[in-house]
Amino acid sequence: MRECIFCHEQASSREDAWPLWLMRYLPSNGSIEAERGGSSLSAWNSSTPNLKIRCVCKSCNNGWMSKLENRVKPIVLGLIEGKLQSITSDAQSVLSIWAVKNAMVYENFYQERPRFYIDGKRHQLRIANVIPPRTSVWIAKCVNHPGAYTIAEDLRGPLSNGSGECNTYATTMVFASLALQVVSSRLSAVVPLETNVTTVLNKGQWDDIVVRIWPTTTEQQNWPSTVGLNGLLGLDEFGERFLVGNDNQDS
Ligand SMILES: [Zn+2]
Repeated sequence: MRECIFCHEQASSREDAWPLWLMRYLPSNGSIEAERGGSSLSAWNSSTPNLKIRCVCKSCNNGWMSKLENRVKPIVLGLIEGKLQSITSDAQSVLSIWAVKNAMVYENFYQERPRFYIDGKRHQLRIANVIPPRTSVWIAKCVNHPGAYTIAEDLRGPLSNGSGECNTYATTMVFASLALQVVSSRLSAVVPLETNVTTVLNKGQWDDIVVRIWPTTTEQQNWPSTVGLNGLLGLDEFGERFLVGNDNQDS
């Protein structure tokens, strides 16, 4: 029996990986792709977006997840259609919770790999909308976007003060012209809780491109950013813009 990743009930329900309400914004010949650490899943054509992942139960899918979808829908559509010129801190939170939920669901595309998010973190998201600690969420605008796309990167590196290791997981997802990126870090058990983690960015004018929505910093964030990500190349650079520690190695 496959368990629901959010509550341990039987995973009896199939979650639409790319919400159907977003499909009309994708080019009819566009493709949907998923990739983690260089190994791709096959691409799907967005005219047949029937991509479902069986990892949740009916009561999660029809309950809190459906409510979250209804709350995020006007925000996501407002950003894609250019009707929202600023994002309130409330909207930033809802969008971040949705992005983290997606990252947790998309991990199940790659069943041969261990999950990054542990059970307790997924349950807290369901019960109390708690985003895991050491998580950041960014959004960016895509120009010449490929359709729908997700890429996940595992990054592992020693902390610069030598006190242990940091394990970071970055999920980048694209829905038409909107890209979201969720980056979470987990430290080895020996590292003191108050340790700060700094991730190093690959060079690029990221400050002009991305808007950070979690943790929220200001009341309102302006949208869109001054520079967009151009096509698949821009997305690949966005998905791989992090280095952890000095000694970045693929695990
Ligand atoms: Zn459930």
